[in-house]
Amino acid sequence: MQRRRRCKIIATLGPASNDEAAIERLWRAGADLFRINMSHADPAAMRERVAMIRAVEERVGRSIGVLVDLQGPKLRVGAFAGGGAAISAGDRFTFDSDPAPGDATRVCLPHPEILSSLRPGHKLLIDDGRLRLHVVEIAPETAPQKAVAVVDIGGIISNRKGVSLPDTDIPVAAMTPKDRIDLDAALETGVDWIALSFVQRGEDVAEVKKIADGRALVMAKIEKPQAIARLDEILAVADGLMVARGDLGVEMPLEKVPGLQKRITREARRYGRPVVVATQMLESMITAAAPTRAEVSDVATAVFEGADAIMLSAESASGRYPAEAVSMMNRIGEEVEREGVYRSIIAAQRAAPERTGADAVAIAARDMAETLDLKAIVAWTASGATALRVARERPRAPILALTPNRDTARRLTVVWGVKAVVTKDANDVDDMANRACKFAVRQGMAEKGERILIIAGVPFGTPGATNMLRLAFIGENDGFRAQ
Ligand code: PEP
Repeated sequence: MQRRRRCKIIATLGPASNDEAAIERLWRAGADLFRINMSHADPAAMRERVAMIRAVEERVGRSIGVLVDLQGPKLRVGAFAGGGAAISAGDRFTFDSDPAPGDATRVCLPHPEILSSLRPGHKLLIDDGRLRLHVVEIAPETAPQKAVAVVDIGGIISNRKGVSLPDTDIPVAAMTPKDRIDLDAALETGVDWIALSFVQRGEDVAEVKKIADGRALVMAKIEKPQAIARLDEILAVADGLMVARGDLGVEMPLEKVPGLQKRITREARRYGRPVVVATQMLESMITAAAPTRAEVSDVATAVFEGADAIMLSAESASGRYPAEAVSMMNRIGEEVEREGVYRSIIAAQRAAPERTGADAVAIAARDMAETLDLKAIVAWTASGATALRVARERPRAPILALTPNRDTARRLTVVWGVKAVVTKDANDVDDMANRACKFAVRQGMAEKGERILIIAGVPFGTPGATNMLRLAFIGENDGFRAQ
């Protein structure tokens, strides 16, 4: 199955897609990598799913990426005497450290560090923002600690509902004890990407990167205003970003989310970090066989923005039409990329290069491929860095990454326009050119008599040493023929 779409598709696995046959159906429908959401899985379930994905990978003979999404420090209120209580606009309601069951006047907020960080004026959003309160008084030093709030939007507040604090800098680590267990299990299992939830600062990402120690790449989920304020700092350490619009739309006014999505994707592209747009992309397909026009437009917008990947959550994890949702996304992606204005929109968003050899080669590769109508840019890459820098240029020609490293090929599944193939390192420059031609033909990118461009770092296996560009004709037996 040849894929021409540049923007990749991530499908979240769950009860609707929990066996090998279902995963293979999603892959055949267009999913390039799979996400396992640890909010709904434990290490044993994660391992089982990874094994299924690896079995499908083996069967289809193509690299498939695995993204494990850590739950992160989701804050929740305690329990209520009757399971819940009704609170109305204008009521005073207290959050405190007393573990006694709550009522219509108070509830336990079992996070002492949060009670000490709340200040008058800070907003508390309960149950994905359905209920809204703001703090009017604090008594963080008393026993029990407390913060008194006034209800702005009322409703039923019930047991263990989630709490979002958009105004409060939360002094908690980005990883909970569960996250640490899940992270260790994911690294042992050999997954390709770890997504970190509720990132607030660069240090949060740096901590996970230190633990991962190169065993997996780390994606920062941008879903808090604090992360938006420190986007540069986060981009400097993260290997990729996710625009996690679910929680972002709770913590920030909804009308700000589209602009933030543009800003985050633009910044990630500037840094050359893969960026994923996620959540509610085809939400109505959880229960319906076709999406709404607005959802189709939303997916198309992300593709026009040059996002590396678009993601399905409940649609593929627990919806009634998982394969149809992937297939719909695939069709939208293909259609947008065929649209006449697509190239000019993508090109207009391109950022200036960094003054490095790798970027100079990447730009030259894009220019040459466009000037000469070359059929593919073939990048020999050990770490994937060369392929990433070429992808940053969003060239018209497809990018074929040849790598001796299976992990690199899997990690590159999330990257715009890159098709990665595992093959042993080239012996010399001729071998490199010969095999680049053969693989380009085998992947359906070029034919005899057509030309491709090869880029690499010579000597081979020197990370970051992209320094070579070679134009090649596909000759007899699909091999390389000097011009
Ligand atoms: C989100 O909030 O958009 C998101 C992707 O995270 P989760 O699905 O874990 O809530």
